[in-house]
Amino acid sequence: MQLVNMEKYKNTLYGNIKKQLSGWLELDETKTVTTKEVYRFLHSIKGTGGTLQLCGLMLITENLLDKLDEDSEEVWQQEELKNLLFDLIEHTYEYEHFAEMEMKEKPAGDPQAPLIQIIDDDISMLILLKDILEEKGWMVITNADPVKATKQYFEMQPDCLILDIQLPTKDGYQVLQDIHLHNEKYFIPKIMISIQNDKQSRIKAYKMGADDFISKPIDIEEFIVKIERHIQRKKIFDQSVLIDELTQVYNRRFLDDAIPRYFQDFKRSGHPFSISIIDLDHFKKVNDSYGHAMGDVVLMEFAQFIKNNIRSSDLICRYGGEEFVIIFPRTTNAEAKNKLAELIKVFSAKRFAYENQHFSVSFSAGVYTVNDGSVTPEEAFEGADSSLYEAKRSGRGRVESIQKTSFKKKCLNVSVIDDDIIIRTILTKTLQSMEFPHYDLNIAVYEDGCSFLNSDRAKENSAHFLILDGVMPTMDGIEVLKEVKHGKNADCFTVLMLTGRKSSEDIAIALKMGADDYVTKPFNIIDLQARMERLLKKMM
Ligand code: GH3
Ligand code: MG
Ligand code: MG
Repeated sequence: MQLVNMEKYKNTLYGNIKKQLSGWLELDETKTVTTKEVYRFLHSIKGTGGTLQLCGLMLITENLLDKLDEDSEEVWQQEELKNLLFDLIEHTYEYEHFAEMEMKEKPAGDPQAPLIQIIDDDISMLILLKDILEEKGWMVITNADPVKATKQYFEMQPDCLILDIQLPTKDGYQVLQDIHLHNEKYFIPKIMISIQNDKQSRIKAYKMGADDFISKPIDIEEFIVKIERHIQRKKIFDQSVLIDELTQVYNRRFLDDAIPRYFQDFKRSGHPFSISIIDLDHFKKVNDSYGHAMGDVVLMEFAQFIKNNIRSSDLICRYGGEEFVIIFPRTTNAEAKNKLAELIKVFSAKRFAYENQHFSVSFSAGVYTVNDGSVTPEEAFEGADSSLYEAKRSGRGRVESIQKTSFKKKCLNVSVIDDDIIIRTILTKTLQSMEFPHYDLNIAVYEDGCSFLNSDRAKENSAHFLILDGVMPTMDGIEVLKEVKHGKNADCFTVLMLTGRKSSEDIAIALKMGADDYVTKPFNIIDLQARMERLLKKMM
């Protein structure tokens, strides 16, 4: 990925500041400027300045913002503005002559970094913990609503869960209960944090699967060391295990080690072999309708079904989530496809029971057959994956095989709504530089919520990633979020909020309204890119 040319944006930002300042400084005596206007102007400079790592500029705007009350009705005349904004004017002038002091680099967001999920309805606690853990270079997702949190737990599969006991609608124990079956089979450190730290509560938590109990108020230093230890142990555990805990088939690590053997066998013997990636159809619906515990049962039975119905020389591995890989040694493309078609037919006829309801589940399969010595494992898996997407696209419950990757990518809508031209430009550029194997991003930018809400794409019934500025004139981000979440296609949206301030109220409202994640301005572009990548991949 190429890095965005910061100089250009810095120049644009200072250019804009200069323009606005000039406009105000040229006001005639009879005209005034409202405090709100000045506040918004400074606020947006602060956000963008921070993003561009302009430390001096941020300090100045922060000081100025401290002096202003956003809601005050006071108005400013030209001369008063000149006094108020003198530091900024001076600084803008200096920029043209001197190189800017650089802000200390925060750890860059690594898409492979451990993912930590924090569930707490105390928003200021959420913000604090997210901040300090992200400073360690980890990625953090936060939830205040335990129901949404449970869903996100299964979708994002965090490496560590930090969970408050006192939560609205259902408490932390109930959340533990909801992921209990999963808990038992998986090594995911679960840390309870609570004000209620009597012995009974602690014992109850440990009995229900918690790995640690930290009482509030939290000692931050100790907290970080503890989380660090839990994550280290999880890593060591992951590296030493070859069987998937839930489904009892081999895991991806085993597969990675085994793959070269099949390629060697082909080169030695000349017998082609086939790789298949299989994926349950509409599995989210199973979780949504019958709960994640039932989803786990379906996954276990699915894996066992496949294992019992393939040859002992065939290999099945859990590839991730509800995706599995089957390797058919010395098997042609037609043979593999026939076998998979038969498996799909038999499995789809199987009935699952939940309370007094019955349902069935199908799966789709993509096949790639290695019959050419120049094909690399990456290419072979890409071929199988593209074939799986083709099977999904052409109706699911079927097997497809594309040997050449002449494959049309799907489109994913991405909309950026921000009133700040500089942020819009940076985000667009960053999004444009991102590449995904099966999707092209269809990026659009809007400077206000109304023009987005009135657009045709806002009504489309397909996955839509929305990056939404919290503070905007006329209609602010929360109102846009509210509209989106009340629309008929609400489920299509994954929303990343950019919150202007570390205001826990804003963040609380955003999370309650259904935002999937938030980032406080000023943000670091590399961090933000990693965050967008995670959310986008989850949607694909
Ligand atoms: P599609 O037909 O397109 O594959 O639809 P889908 O609903 O299966 O789509 P997707 O792959 O997006 O969803 C997979 C879901 O599988 C998301 C996640 O909640 C769920 N999942 C992943 N791992 C587990 C698990 O270990 N247990 C349970 N219960 N659910 C899981
Ligand atoms: Mg699926
Ligand atoms: Mg899937």
